[in-house]
Amino acid sequence: MDAVAPEISTNVALTDMNTLRVSASAEYFCRLSSVDLVQPVLQFARARGLTVTALGGGSNLVLAGDIKGLVVVLDIKGIDVLASENERLDVRFGAGECWHTMVEHCLDQGWYGLENLSLIPGNMGAAPIQNIGAYGVELSDLFVSLDAIEIATGQERVFNREDCEFGYRDSVFKQRLQNQYLITAVTLRLSRQPQININYPALKDALGGLQASPQQISDAVCQIRQQKLPDPAVTANVGSFFTNPKVSEEQALSLISLHPNMPWHVQPDGRYKIPAAWLIEKCGFKGQRYGNVSVHQHQALVLVNHGGTGLEVLVLADKIVQAVADEFGIDLVIEPRVYGRE
Ligand code: FAD
Ligand code: NAP
Repeated sequence: MDAVAPEISTNVALTDMNTLRVSASAEYFCRLSSVDLVQPVLQFARARGLTVTALGGGSNLVLAGDIKGLVVVLDIKGIDVLASENERLDVRFGAGECWHTMVEHCLDQGWYGLENLSLIPGNMGAAPIQNIGAYGVELSDLFVSLDAIEIATGQERVFNREDCEFGYRDSVFKQRLQNQYLITAVTLRLSRQPQININYPALKDALGGLQASPQQISDAVCQIRQQKLPDPAVTANVGSFFTNPKVSEEQALSLISLHPNMPWHVQPDGRYKIPAAWLIEKCGFKGQRYGNVSVHQHQALVLVNHGGTGLEVLVLADKIVQAVADEFGIDLVIEPRVYGRE
């Protein structure tokens, strides 16, 4: 434990470690490049009664205040092929692998399946937390298992797909096992045969409706995203601030009769998914600035921080939730995880 203790710093600024660029600090902080260092660091935290919070690229969280306890960045690298049979292969990725760099690496290797998920910020270890998804593909479509360590006990555990209880931008790690495990590696099943999925209109349009190679799909996704979404390196944001609500058929039909232009997508369970961006825009928020925070002028789902606090961002989010509830009777749910709110 003593060998690790010097690597644990105190009162560390997290401003450059969250893409909303909120200024907040961690009471204790460490960056772990090896899975062997996890146990001694958990012992350090347990001995002092510290809560432990995992941090990846900071692109899906709101720091509402300083973080008490120990913030751990799992910087564990590594890409290992565990099994390979015919066109299928199972590949284990260290939690610290940058998601998009990993997508590019897989394309270079001729390992397919991740193209639609190109250019999502963040690290591999966070991808299962909200079952990241874009353009009709979700992590769970490719997921085999993950390696994790329980924070309270230090016990190692492998979670398979059922254990993760994946849902729409959701998993057991956002629900009943929230903040209880550190994910050290994720194993995905990829394919040497291209897996083409260009059902999303924006993607189909960008590719001219033609068949495309995985590299062309990835390039098209990157191009659309670069045109539509603010780059967090330039404009402080955490991507979509709300998930798209799913409502009953009855509620959807009633809303459609009142708002014939409202877009909707019927889900396999019969519910209707309504784009939250449309609801927010209809309430007049798109492009509006409120002090230090604003709603992006091209994408109403994205809240932008212009030097404000996490709490200021959350006040705007609450205002939007209230307005959408009043206007449409729909309760929007915040997508990023909130930390440091007492
Ligand atoms: P962080 O923000 O650091 O952490 C998020 C959560 O995961 C926190 O609760 C944290 O405690 C936990 N966590 C992180 N690492 C670990 C670990 N190793 N073990 C245990 N818990 C951990 N998301 C999508 O789903 N689809 C998109 O298309 C998409 N586009 C985006 C576009 C932009 C411009 C931005 C800014 C964000 C976007 N996001 C999208 C959200 C975000 O990129 C993803 O959710 C991403 O997986 C977050 O990764 P991260 O490493 O930054 O996680
Ligand atoms: P878009 O293509 O303009 O579509 C608007 C919304 O309609 C999306 O949110 C999408 O839902 C839904 N949609 C479109 N076509 C659909 C179809 N064929 N079937 C079912 N649902 C459909 O969306 P966008 O805002 O530019 O984003 C593009 C993709 O990137 C989306 O998948 C989005 O989720 C993802 N993205 C996520 C984040 C984030 O932070 N979570 C940020 C940026 C982009 P879904 O969102 O459920 O796919």
